[in-house]
Amino acid sequence: MNIYNAYLLIMRVLKFGGTSVGSAEKIQHVAEIINDGVPKIVVLSAMAGTTNFLEEIVKLLYKAKNDEAVAKINELKKQYETVVNELFIKVEFKKKGIELIDHHFQYMHSFTLDSFTIYEERALLAQGELISSAFLHYHLQEAGVNSALIPALNFMRIDKSLEPDDFYIKQNLQREIEQHKGVQLFVTQGYICRNAYGEIDNLKRGGSDYSASLIGAAAGSDEIQIWTDISGFHNNDPRYVEKTVSLKELSFDEAAELAYFGAKILHPSSVLPAKMANIPVRLKNTMKPEDEGTIIKDTFVQGEIKAVAAKDGITAIKIKSGRMLLAYGFLRQVFEIFERYQTPIDMITTSEIAVSVTIDDRKNLDDILADLRKYANVEVDENQSIICIVGNFLAEEKGIVAKVMTALKEVPIRMVSYGGSMHNISVLVNTSEKIKALKLLNENLFNL
Ligand code: ASP
Ligand code: MG
Repeated sequence: MNIYNAYLLIMRVLKFGGTSVGSAEKIQHVAEIINDGVPKIVVLSAMAGTTNFLEEIVKLLYKAKNDEAVAKINELKKQYETVVNELFIKVEFKKKGIELIDHHFQYMHSFTLDSFTIYEERALLAQGELISSAFLHYHLQEAGVNSALIPALNFMRIDKSLEPDDFYIKQNLQREIEQHKGVQLFVTQGYICRNAYGEIDNLKRGGSDYSASLIGAAAGSDEIQIWTDISGFHNNDPRYVEKTVSLKELSFDEAAELAYFGAKILHPSSVLPAKMANIPVRLKNTMKPEDEGTIIKDTFVQGEIKAVAAKDGITAIKIKSGRMLLAYGFLRQVFEIFERYQTPIDMITTSEIAVSVTIDDRKNLDDILADLRKYANVEVDENQSIICIVGNFLAEEKGIVAKVMTALKEVPIRMVSYGGSMHNISVLVNTSEKIKALKLLNENLFNL
């Protein structure tokens, strides 16, 4: 038990992603999963597709194409009306559902009346989670389940540097919960929060996982569960490789590496709060609740290669300078340029006269290259993929790098990085070689 837990109840946190609440039937299914008597906080995403749809409306409004925005808002409203009809049985609840969406869509329409602002953008993007969570709560009420809807906007907050305000979250979440004596099932929204100025804001796309992790840490939960449409992390990417197996167990560090590279199963930021509070994170499949899924916790299995994953859309930049030879300060100059354009570097390898780095965000590539060329010769390779091999490796352990390289002996490799952490070997290949590389690694490392 967490000794800092100020709550009387140990609350488990269960987060359901957009596909898990993507239709009336799926919301009913979620209600069945959560109604098992274990005290919990349920964190919901918007229904699948909604946030993308809202982003399209945002774009139209910024372009002052208000008529098109109105048409889109009406289109979305129609979809929600269908959900209300299918989700609720009693007239009283159908009416409640319709009133709810009327309220939210009227608010959305108010943004189409004059020029559009960043505040309105964020308020608009928050509507998806506000509606999905209210739907589940009303559905539970209709089924006679004692639940409470607690607004994330009353307790989730980021500070001026856009980091979560842990103290505020803990205090205010506790206050929200204490207002509902006798209730053991709480429903809230993922993704949305307030910022340091009290305005509506969000934790960025895919941020509901992060919400769940922050809420779990604030509530001193015994477990944080992330429910999606796949049975946890797999040892390889099932989209490209035929035989993959789901992983029973990962350490926090391994999960952090995989979340960054992996196929959007878990938002990378969500590992840290759970790790800091040492709360296990379990990945579950809403469509197959009986599957064990993956548990992420504080334990390591030594020397094991756990999984491989790939990330596309990578650009490699080779920076070569005679000045680098026996010089210091050159790398600082290079890094400063990336910092200036707020572009994170993923992989880095050096030789005596050159350094190669990779980036995934190409937004400021032209400016970066122009600045680099003031100091060095620069070559750029586009359409690269990072293949990341994750496990728990010890420096004194023999053979792990050799195994990986042997598996990839038929694949041209642009960069290799090992030793940055003991959990990762990364290789950079042309994206056209990615599937071949993933398959070879599957055969040779996992005998699959
Ligand atoms: N609804 C938000 C999104 O689609 C947040 C989330 O689902 O995690 O990005
Ligand atoms: Mg998601």
